Amino acid sequence: MKIAILPGDGIGPEIIDQAVKVLNVLGESFELETAPVGGAGYAAHGHPLPENTLALAKAADAVLFGAVGDYQYDKLERALRPEQAILGLRKQLGLFGNLRPAILYPELAGASTLKPEVVSGLDILIVRELTGDIYFGQPRGVRECPDGPFQGQREGYDTMRYAEGEIRRIAHVAFQAAQKRGKRLTSVDKANVLETFQFWKDIVTDVHQEYPDVALEHMYVDNAAMQLVRAPKKFDVIVTGNMFGDILSDCAAMLTGSIGMLPSASLDASNKGLYEPSHGSAPDIAGKGIANPLATILSAAMMLRYTFDKTEQADRIETAVKSVLAQGLRTADIFEPGTTRVGTEEMGNAVVKALAA
Ligand code: NAD
Repeated sequence: MKIAILPGDGIGPEIIDQAVKVLNVLGESFELETAPVGGAGYAAHGHPLPENTLALAKAADAVLFGAVGDYQYDKLERALRPEQAILGLRKQLGLFGNLRPAILYPELAGASTLKPEVVSGLDILIVRELTGDIYFGQPRGVRECPDGPFQGQREGYDTMRYAEGEIRRIAHVAFQAAQKRGKRLTSVDKANVLETFQFWKDIVTDVHQEYPDVALEHMYVDNAAMQLVRAPKKFDVIVTGNMFGDILSDCAAMLTGSIGMLPSASLDASNKGLYEPSHGSAPDIAGKGIANPLATILSAAMMLRYTFDKTEQADRIETAVKSVLAQGLRTADIFEPGTTRVGTEEMGNAVVKALAA
């Protein structure tokens, strides 16, 4: 179980330290190796994704990634900015399946902008296709409008497309994720308007034959957006394309109200994955020891579940996180009166202690 540890910038190193501590007490034989990425990669080797870092990530079974980005690099040309590292890793590692759980522990129900009874206990997973769809389809650009009432004017255009194999592989990821959870999958499309998504729906329906233990439903994206804020707990796993997934996953993330709590995974066809918190490098609080490490610790749990198939260890970590929240421990971002404010390190130590209990 080779894991590349890429802490990155800002709060990245602080939160990664806590996740590594947690991995080290599980009693498993992980091989961990650390390398600089993002601004740290640029500072050390003149590139946000240095060759050695990429080689390490390619050779590993999984990558545990902190966050990248620092205002001091904002003036660099785009190709050298820290954020390019994450795009480069996704592309180079072929990470087409983005898994974003949105979990709201009952203890944190007050952090959501929605009524506690709507979101308390929420536990859904959004599986977003990450490398296709209208975001990557060709041709695209600005041209002279060829027909219609605006003929001759300039028009912007993009191409929505999905190949059968692209849909099949993300559908497999989603069905398999559903098998590890509540065995219900909602495929989100716009089949009533878009040919691409009628095709998507047909292929997902076909792949379903291989997963008779999972209940499949189809839902139009506009209805899915509405249901996500009306009754989000109705969902178990949602699978959708790149653009719809981009929008719905941010919406789902905000249901929980606390960005410091949300892990994510990006997987390739053989379940090799990159695991990272959903938030950025938070330069405003970097070095202060107050960042919430739980999203990163929960990302490590996802790594055990999806890349290493160690469900029991993943469950142990998630239970330990629930237990520290139940004890009333809170970092500043999730603090409420009546709870105990702790720093990054104390929170990490509390999870380690709960694991040992
Ligand atoms: P951000 O997620 O870093 O921060 C947004 C707000 O949330 C800040 O107030 C921050 O203090 C807070 N926050 C974030 N994570 C937290 C945590 N674990 N605990 C407590 N508070 C937390 O987003 P931003 O400010 O828009 O971006 C900052 C930098 O991060 C930019 O350079 C951006 O490009 C980069 N970024 C990187 C990634 C990534 O590495 N995958 C993702 C998003 C943004």
